[in-house]
Amino acid sequence: MTFSYLIGLHCPKCKEQYNADQIRQLCVCGSPLLADYDLHALKKEVTPGHLQGRIPDLWRYHELLPVREKSHVVTLGEGMTPLLSMPRIGSEMGIPNLLMKDEGIIPTGSFKARGAAVGVSKAKELGIKELAMPTNGNAGAAWALYAARAGIKASIVMPVGAPEITRNECAISGAHLCLVNGLISDAGKIIGQAVKEYGFYDASTLKEPYRIEGKKTMGLEIAEQLGWKVPDVILYPTGGGVGLIGIFKAFRELAQIGWIEERLPRLVAVQAAGCAPIVKAWNERKRESEFWPDSATAAFGINVPKALGDFLVLEAIYESEGCAIAVEDADLLEEQGRIARYEGAFVCPEGAAAFAAARRLRENGWIREEDTVIALNTGSGIKYPETVRIDVPILQPGERINLE
Ligand SMILES: *Cc1c(COP(=O)(O)O)cnc(C)c1O
Ligand SMILES: [Zn+2]
Repeated sequence: MTFSYLIGLHCPKCKEQYNADQIRQLCVCGSPLLADYDLHALKKEVTPGHLQGRIPDLWRYHELLPVREKSHVVTLGEGMTPLLSMPRIGSEMGIPNLLMKDEGIIPTGSFKARGAAVGVSKAKELGIKELAMPTNGNAGAAWALYAARAGIKASIVMPVGAPEITRNECAISGAHLCLVNGLISDAGKIIGQAVKEYGFYDASTLKEPYRIEGKKTMGLEIAEQLGWKVPDVILYPTGGGVGLIGIFKAFRELAQIGWIEERLPRLVAVQAAGCAPIVKAWNERKRESEFWPDSATAAFGINVPKALGDFLVLEAIYESEGCAIAVEDADLLEEQGRIARYEGAFVCPEGAAAFAAARRLRENGWIREEDTVIALNTGSGIKYPETVRIDVPILQPGERINLE
């Protein structure tokens, strides 16, 4: 048994193969690269029983992760987030088996910590000293903090409109932070220039192969938390789509090593109506998306007008017989309030979009009553105080509460 069964990288587009012990970004053809493991050896040598007694974080799956040496692991205790039943809102929607995978309680406040933990650990193992990335906020926050823990310098560019707390997370970690008067695509162009000029490691979404491996652990955990059973539906708020690609990869790898049956959950890419390039491509039965002009949504983490890995997201949807659906901001914000009132969970707007989508898909019959349905809450609502508008009475000392 070795710590990691990583054997290399491959290009899902042109099939070129690469050594994983050298620094790699994109394939020569421009496609993202994916990590490969020796699943035959893994299947023979490792069983779910081996996980027993391991710490409940994402590193319990180290055989299926790319870091070769335990000493290179950079961790803040991320992973093994709760898989909670949502009985009240579930029965109200007509989905009695509705569950929430709650990423709101993970370090840095969003599931981006998973990608950052594995991506930064691998960067450390590869000897990286400086990395750079564009972000809608949460990824930059997570990578800045994990980079600080690893002793790696980080340069981050995010839109001025990104959630303010994510700026603070970057700044306090000592990262070099700039804001751009534009979208994440504009931030991406600035980072591309800086990477050329200064030789930074480009940690942009899917431009290094390991963030997806971190996000994959959401799928591994869901399977383990269900007793190595496959749920029927997983709804995922989709921006760059890394999490969806990762969850798809997780279920495929688990099936190949025989830990679960050969069946995939139907994967649902949930987007905001103000930025829905994947939904449009899926509706047109296309294999790639087009740039979505003038994108806008309160669910900032899913405001991605054109994703580099769009073809992988769409493949995951088609292969799993899933679907893609867009939700209006007004609906997802209403759902966010309902989840807090019914279940006591303060989810992020992106997570709320997944619930709003579940409601719609149950209404049109795509989700059946008996389905086991998992909505991913990708972050904490506490990171987005501006999404809640309140009007509260202010009392003078000695005044009474008036319930009329
Ligand atoms: C980044 C982000 C998403 C989208 O993640 P992708 O894997 O890039 O699609 C969803 N929710 C939140 C809170 C995010 O920060
Ligand atoms: Zn290629």
